[in-house]
Amino acid sequence: MRIDIVTVLPSLLDSFLHHSIVQRAQDKKLVDLKIHNLRDYSVNKHKTVDDYAFGGGAGMVLMIEPIVNCLEHLKKERKYQEIVYMSPDGKSFNQAMANELSLVENMIIICGHYKGIDERIREHFITREISIGDYVLSGGELPAAVLSDAVIRLLPGVLSNESSALSDSFQDGLVAAPVYTRPADFRGMEVPKILLSGHEKEIDKWRFEQSIKRTEQRRPDKENKGSN
Ligand code: SAH
Repeated sequence: MRIDIVTVLPSLLDSFLHHSIVQRAQDKKLVDLKIHNLRDYSVNKHKTVDDYAFGGGAGMVLMIEPIVNCLEHLKKERKYQEIVYMSPDGKSFNQAMANELSLVENMIIICGHYKGIDERIREHFITREISIGDYVLSGGELPAAVLSDAVIRLLPGVLSNESSALSDSFQDGLVAAPVYTRPADFRGMEVPKILLSGHEKEIDKWRFEQSIKRTEQRRPDKENKGSN
């Protein structure tokens, strides 16, 4: 899979790119993740990418031309199935959407900043608008990292044990069962005995029951809704 992230703050994504599962996925060539500095696509010598909003009001707006230049440059190199704009008024991101996007071959993610991006980009170039929650952040970089992380860990071969993504919360409409590691007894706080029994089938059954119980308690909105 190829993911291109377009941003005015590339350095904000450095740490995300170079750690943990996302780094490993790139090392294994399972994902090709490229960050593009919007300023490189500016048409004037000051590398301007933002301007005042027509009609007045506080806050700058990312200009249409650098974004279109960047999109056209990328589209010349390959065909993109999705061009996503991260936006608080987009569709709420969830696991079903992550699953869907993990099947895409090439995807561009546009990060807004300041007041957002020129509306004409949203009208004419975007295939989806995605929000990571009902709150407003300063830029689309963290949302783009959230989206990419959720998608990348689903790509076959990225997680060492492939079934591990399947047992995560929301994959089957349930939240995950609790997990424990050594020591089995810490100051009298004990791990459930069943997990130490070695009975694989019984353990699976216990985990499933725990998932159901937890879903009822914590996310009743997810109950009996199938996947997400
Ligand atoms: N004026 C806009 C908010 C701009 S915030 C509004 O009220 O809707 C600046 C940028 O941060 C946005 O363009 C978007 O790319 C990103 N952003 C902020 N909050 C976000 C969220 N919850 N989900 C996805 N992107 C978000």
